[in-house]
Amino acid sequence: MENQEMEDQEMEDQDQWCFAWVPGDEGVEGANRAALLNSAKWTPSSTITVSFLDGDESVKQRVRQVAQRWTAPGLANLRLIFQDDNDSLIRISFKHSGSWSVLGTQCKSITDPARPTMNYGWLKPESTDDALRRVVLHEFGHALGLIHEHQNPAGGIQWNRDAVIRDLSGPPNNWDLEKIEHNMFRPIEKKESNFTSVDPKSIMMYPLPAKWTTNGFSIGLNSDLSETDKAFIRQQYPPV
Ligand SMILES: [Zn+2]
Repeated sequence: MENQEMEDQEMEDQDQWCFAWVPGDEGVEGANRAALLNSAKWTPSSTITVSFLDGDESVKQRVRQVAQRWTAPGLANLRLIFQDDNDSLIRISFKHSGSWSVLGTQCKSITDPARPTMNYGWLKPESTDDALRRVVLHEFGHALGLIHEHQNPAGGIQWNRDAVIRDLSGPPNNWDLEKIEHNMFRPIEKKESNFTSVDPKSIMMYPLPAKWTTNGFSIGLNSDLSETDKAFIRQQYPPV
């Protein structure tokens, strides 16, 4: 790609926001770092079945490989089993808009086998490895129960609320105030989550432009598991 195209792509990626949700609680959880909702946590050593409802073969293959990095030896003591059956716990689609996933075990409450629990709205065969890894590790982080790092109860992000609201209420997100409030500003209660201090390098961190904070704090695009992500998931899903 030409440099200009790469910059355009980067800008586009920065504008793409994921949302994680809990069925029945239109709750959209937002932003970066290793906090895990206790209610969405799997039992260590669980087997989690995964299938694709649609999608390009080459992209599916890449998603499968990247997702299993979370359960590599020494990380989460969970097994992700990809199968052709649609009665899997995690069902992936590429057909809907945006990228999103249900949090952790909450996928069990969506029983319609035709209904996805995870979606990748912008992955295509031509997506770069970097772009694919960023979003797949992030969504599977949600599927293992991780919330956005910016909602880590250890918190501390000094939001420029007006700037965040202005940007997210416009395209391509077009979020209403309630969605912005829930996704961005509402920290998760300490009692709801296991958490570490905020990790700016977490795969669960959204990119935050400096204009969104009042103290110049910013976060770039993270596209791999941080050391803290690895340590945290190992601690949450230890060998039994
Ligand atoms: Zn997310």
